[in-house]
Amino acid sequence: MTRHSILPVLLYHSVERGARPEQHGWITAPEVFSEHMAYLAGEGYTTLTVTEYAAMLAEPMTEAPEKTVVITFDDGFADFTEHALPVMAEHGIKSTMYVVTGCVGSTSSWLDSVGEGDRPMLGWSDIDALVEAGVEIGAHTHSHPQLDIINRDTAWEEIRRSRGVLEDRLGREVPSFAYPFGFHGPRIRALVERAGFTSACAVKDALSGPGDDPLAIARVIVPGDTTIGTLTDLLAGRGRPPAWRGERTSTKAFRVARRSAARARSLRAGYGRTPMGGRIAEGGVQPKRPTHGP
Ligand SMILES: [Zn+2]
Repeated sequence: MTRHSILPVLLYHSVERGARPEQHGWITAPEVFSEHMAYLAGEGYTTLTVTEYAAMLAEPMTEAPEKTVVITFDDGFADFTEHALPVMAEHGIKSTMYVVTGCVGSTSSWLDSVGEGDRPMLGWSDIDALVEAGVEIGAHTHSHPQLDIINRDTAWEEIRRSRGVLEDRLGREVPSFAYPFGFHGPRIRALVERAGFTSACAVKDALSGPGDDPLAIARVIVPGDTTIGTLTDLLAGRGRPPAWRGERTSTKAFRVARRSAARARSLRAGYGRTPMGGRIAEGGVQPKRPTHGP
């Protein structure tokens, strides 16, 4: 892959003031976010939704303009409406927002265990306004579990339900999905495909490009303290690997570690005699905070 054939898929979460340094992995100040968007517009970047990009990935003969970027948001934090949407609309920048359907109009309850469970989430009327403004809405499960360490039936229900809820409520097809924390694997990827999604975003902290897997698109988290200099490096592909297909050994090893940690917690919680997967979701026993932010 040549350098100009990379295509960064950026991942933001919350755009809000007052983030502490330890929250910089997932909270970007509105001023910083505005700078990023103004930079992209000023440099003449073309933006695509994930569905538009996935269509290009599926069609190898199609080539994106050299300066193309995909901007994604995970979770559906309510601050998007005030701090992200207006500045993107001003610059004509497209984006895809992945929503946790069980938290719409409520709070970030999956973050209870790390003391962040009361952050307001977008309501349905907010989401309607996003659709109206041209933001693509994608699914991000119903309750934001670590899909790759829970049992298959629970994972399937989380994936299927998030699509069904969004399609029923929005009255349109929802073809794109994002794995919570980026965690996936062949088993979960297959369920996402079976649910009818034609694209899915992972994390990988690598640059996407031709040859990337439409059902595990590589994204790069943009930390809240990202300067324009760092953003420029990122967009140019400096310091980040190109995307790969499949899983690395370290990813598999990490899943084994998360699974056994979750099992140990479920044993302590008295769930020892049943498979721990579904119990984590049902019993509210929260896994250790993953490394990829919310
Ligand atoms: Zn998320």
